[in-house]
Amino acid sequence: MEKVILAIILVILTGCNINNIPKEEVQNKNETENEVVNMKTDSERKLDLAPTITLNNGIDMPVLGIGTYSLHDDTCINSIYTAIQNGYRKIDTAYMYGNEEEVGKAVKKAINDGIIKREDIFVATKLYPNQYDNPKEAIEEALKKLDIEYIDLMLLHHPGTNDEKAYKAMEEYVASGKIKSLGLSNYYIEEIDNFLPKVSIKPVLVQNEIHPYYQERDVVKHIQDLDIVVEGWYPLGGRGHQTELLNDETLVKIANNHNRSVAQVILRWDYQNDVIVIPGSSNPDHIKENISIFDFELTEEEMKQIEVLNRDEKHDWY
Ligand code: NAP
Repeated sequence: MEKVILAIILVILTGCNINNIPKEEVQNKNETENEVVNMKTDSERKLDLAPTITLNNGIDMPVLGIGTYSLHDDTCINSIYTAIQNGYRKIDTAYMYGNEEEVGKAVKKAINDGIIKREDIFVATKLYPNQYDNPKEAIEEALKKLDIEYIDLMLLHHPGTNDEKAYKAMEEYVASGKIKSLGLSNYYIEEIDNFLPKVSIKPVLVQNEIHPYYQERDVVKHIQDLDIVVEGWYPLGGRGHQTELLNDETLVKIANNHNRSVAQVILRWDYQNDVIVIPGSSNPDHIKENISIFDFELTEEEMKQIEVLNRDEKHDWY
């Protein structure tokens, strides 16, 4: 008898047709639902976020982010905001790019709009060698320009006079919690081996030029063997250089095998080599395309075909 009553109640409840609810009520319901959707945290969203890697200090970092070199003003803000809307949770900037303020603005806008919380996003910036002799002032400047409470990762942009002094100042900011992780950029085997014994906090990451024409396999292995993550700049060959790379016959063939773009194949190749990538883009279609690399896999044979494309062809210095 109880079961029958329960069944009747269920039929009454579920049989309530939404078409019978007045239009305004449906609209209000949708508005409320949308608000709830906007307030969802990353883990509750159905967005395809990039996987994360655990750094040697225990902090998790997304394996793919957006690079911001040469992006300025609204173009920079819009690119980052679009990236965040599309699941990016890592941003790479630098004092030298002159856009830390725009990066901060885009992040704060995404936080204010309820898309992310501060702890969902990983922001990296860099000190430039002309700042190494006065590092604390430079770090304060970065914190002020970004204005997002703390910096997730700060790198030295490249080796230079007083780089040790600058790194030690960054270590002090790790102690105070204003910087969470430290890294280096454009340091190669010899420079890394000379630098590491001089500092107390091991870098979590080294960011160097890496693309199929400049693979640096020995450097990548050396860094990874030190339990330091490798991140590749110019993953698509760099602005002004990508035409040849993105039309490479071997890469086009592999891309066709998977019904993907060459850019996606390159970024996937990096991912399968445990190399973090930060492709730069201000084109919303490219931004979406570049993060859509976690649902296909290159075969061992394809990985080998890309490996032999190496030409030791460096496209830039910094
Ligand atoms: P990149 O990522 O190799 O290439 C960016 C170029 O590729 C842009 O012109 C972009 O144009 C185009 N692009 C992006 N996605 C594409 C796609 N799916 N299909 C076709 N074209 C595409 O070069 P990058 O941005 O200079 O380098 C990446 C990041 O590395 C920089 O933004 C910066 O954060 C960092 N970096 C660091 C150093 C260092 O010394 N540490 C040096 C250089 C760069 P659209 O805007 O039209 O998409």
